[in-house]
Amino acid sequence: MKKKPVGYIAICQCGRVVGAMDLKNTDRIDAGKILGQWVSEGCTLEPKFDYSWTATVSACGCD
Ligand SMILES: [Zn+2]
Repeated sequence: MKKKPVGYIAICQCGRVVGAMDLKNTDRIDAGKILGQWVSEGCTLEPKFDYSWTATVSACGCD
């Protein structure tokens, strides 16, 4: 059975983590909007399947 992600991080083209989202604390509709925005900015989404991760969100380093 496929696991469902509990959160996502967004990795920018500069390789920095520019966003992190915990699905448990995020409204479903808002989550969709945030994910869509990351995709439209060209970020890579990385699903997280448990809470054993931390992400350090930094400012985008693109020119
Ligand atoms: Zn960037």
